[in-house]
Amino acid sequence: MLLNIKNLHVSINGKEIIKGLNLGVNYGEVHAIMGPNGTGKSTLAAAITGREGYEITKGVIEYKGKDITKLTPDQRANEGIFLSFQYPVEIPGVSMINFMRTAIDTRREYNGLGPIPPGEFLKRMEEMKKLVEINTKLTKRSVNEGFSGGEKKKNEIFQMAMLEPTLAILDETDSGLDIDALKVVARGVNALRSDKNAFIVITHYQRLLDYIIPDFVHVMWDGRIVKSGGKGLALELEERGYEWVKELVEN
Ligand code: ADP
Ligand code: MG
Repeated sequence: MLLNIKNLHVSINGKEIIKGLNLGVNYGEVHAIMGPNGTGKSTLAAAITGREGYEITKGVIEYKGKDITKLTPDQRANEGIFLSFQYPVEIPGVSMINFMRTAIDTRREYNGLGPIPPGEFLKRMEEMKKLVEINTKLTKRSVNEGFSGGEKKKNEIFQMAMLEPTLAILDETDSGLDIDALKVVARGVNALRSDKNAFIVITHYQRLLDYIIPDFVHVMWDGRIVKSGGKGLALELEERGYEWVKELVEN
């Protein structure tokens, strides 16, 4: 199993947000996590990637068979965990090209490899730019500076494609995207899906899952996964809303 989360409890500023969550993800799988706002989806993503301020008070996060809860965010990234942010940051003065090269080389160094050969880097850049339909003007600009919402999201998928993560977490990558941008995001994910990686797609709406077909769908409610199923569960949620889940939990 690639990721095995057992009885996870996470607090922010002493307030418990994740309250005993279990989730297993195998290589080659795409898991969708759905649920109303404020149920802890982003907190879960932050806990997996090790963001500061998210205190794990109980439980373990096993990744490739090892508990990673003591690793720094950088170490986790170097181990192949990638998180696309719900609200991407801008990095003035750093071009996408340099940002990507540094990110790739940092991870290669961690894994005992030298810097990526320039030819290989450029070839991969061209391939992935085509895949996500971003142009050279964008990759030469500072990271996310003045990018539109759609451009930021495409850019994130581009970063993901370049980094070839083993576990990629997309947090609400669909929010604010038009259908064309959504399709680009999905095409990126679908092209990268393989038996050597896995994806966790966090989404409030079912829409993205028309294009990224998940193997499993989980519903979060008040810091826990309260229902899991196949791709049909997403459609059921779309039809019946989350009130239905609330009733499941309360009864
Ligand atoms: P979701 O992604 O499902 O919408 P979040 O994980 O963002 O939910 O938030 C879950 C809960 O944690 C919410 O009640 C939110 O108010 C709270 N929360 C999130 N971030 C913080 C923070 N930095 N400080 C305090 N509470 C927070
Ligand atoms: Mg969120």
